[in-house]
Amino acid sequence: MAGLELQKVKKSFGSVDVIHGVDLTVEDGEFTVFVGPSGCGKSTLLRLVAGLEATTAGTLTIGGKDVTNVEPADRGVAMVFQSYALYPHMTVEENMGFGLKMTGHPAAEIKQRVSRAASILHLEPLLQRKPKALSGGQRQRVAIGRAIVREPEVFLFDEPLSNLDAELRVQMRLEIAKLHKELGATMIYVTHDQVEAMTLADKIVVLRAGVIEQTGSPLALYDDPDNAFVAGFIGSPR
Ligand code: ADP
Ligand code: MG
Repeated sequence: MAGLELQKVKKSFGSVDVIHGVDLTVEDGEFTVFVGPSGCGKSTLLRLVAGLEATTAGTLTIGGKDVTNVEPADRGVAMVFQSYALYPHMTVEENMGFGLKMTGHPAAEIKQRVSRAASILHLEPLLQRKPKALSGGQRQRVAIGRAIVREPEVFLFDEPLSNLDAELRVQMRLEIAKLHKELGATMIYVTHDQVEAMTLADKIVVLRAGVIEQTGSPLALYDDPDNAFVAGFIGSPR
């Protein structure tokens, strides 16, 4: 079964068309990476899937269920942003559990889910710290932990590592790959980084001005880009 399906999805802001009728199938458990120039609509597509923006036209299906008009909290998705947006006055534990608290989960279940996520992300020793006492990498781990505790079917990552230095980016990339293996969840990941795209993706989607230019495995795109634009992003030099 498809983890996620977009059919003729369009998005306009006022009179400006930003997403031009995108068709895309992401298999259950697949790691899909979106690449494309700044402003081509990568974040908008994620926000449409998350329900943070309403589609102008088209259909969105998650796990076989039409979620086009379903509230964000009920879609089974969780999004991790580039800016961690942690609550400064809350501890790591409170930050990770806050969303579940808001949706009325019992305290014991919140504690259990937070402790499981903390264990996956090696955050156990940091649970009582405030965000200001964390490094950039630790903060991004907490932001990922906030998504994990919601146990979503689909994880959406919007350039989650672009604020980290090069060394941390490599480390976190390996952790995200491991996380994908452990959880087996469907993941959609936006990045500017070709190495992240090539190493993380089962499938790469190259976007250009609100249109999918080419979709394929990293190897397929690298070896056989359809055009110079795709080659510029992912293809081999020729
Ligand atoms: P990317 O993430 O690929 O850099 P975005 O999805 O952020 O691109 O933006 C795609 C286009 O949509 C850009 O031209 C951007 O200015 C426009 N856009 C995004 N969000 C809004 C909004 N809320 N209102 C108006 N225009 C927007
Ligand atoms: Mg963006």
